[in-house]
Amino acid sequence: MTNQIYSVAIDGPAGAGKSTIARQAAKALGFVYVDTGAIYRTIAYAAILSKVDVKDAQMVEALLPQVQITMDWLDGVQQMYLAQENVTGEIRTSEVSSTASIVAAIPAVRQFLLDMQRDVARKRSVIMDGRDIGTVVLPDAAVKIYLFASVEVRAKRRWLEMQHVPFETVLMDVAARDERDMNREIAPLKPAQDAVMLDTSKLDLQQSIDAVVEIIRKKIAL
Ligand code: C5P
Repeated sequence: MTNQIYSVAIDGPAGAGKSTIARQAAKALGFVYVDTGAIYRTIAYAAILSKVDVKDAQMVEALLPQVQITMDWLDGVQQMYLAQENVTGEIRTSEVSSTASIVAAIPAVRQFLLDMQRDVARKRSVIMDGRDIGTVVLPDAAVKIYLFASVEVRAKRRWLEMQHVPFETVLMDVAARDERDMNREIAPLKPAQDAVMLDTSKLDLQQSIDAVVEIIRKKIAL
């Protein structure tokens, strides 16, 4: 079973610690970490650069054929490119975060990105994180984990990473993103029926990573 390819899907709301946990777990297991939020962020960034009104789904849809997104990995760190330009740093602003959750509700955007995400998982063992990985993108993933934490804990974690932003603002942003991600019509954020639920509210980072690695090892006997 040496050349077996495995997929691990990790879904959950903003700020549950998915990306850091998934990245470290992938490192521990020798899998490639795929951050699908970064792909939605790159679309959002393209829309912002083109001054497209993202509330207008048709305008966003019309932009898609011109959007050239690629990704690769540099020392294990996922890099995002928009028309050949590395935008990995640019897509981390809070403007891009909220714009991403608006464009992510547009069916044409999700369809546009589906193959790209599935393609990566066809070629290598991945831990892929997002909102609909276990439910839509990789429904046959060998392991599915739903990572969550209370909205206050998630906002606090985000707030500690930022500077000069009032806690209330971060809390409102996280709550608004939850609301959009969970209540959209297409691929809403929800646990897959066969997902293992992991509440990270009371776990620190290392405990969360260990818990995720253990769930994966148990399921696929690595
Ligand atoms: O995970 P991250 O915070 O980078 O994601 C940004 C936004 O992209 C999310 O709020 C969500 O609306 C959207 N997204 C999604 N499906 C995914 C990954 C991200 O809808 N698989």
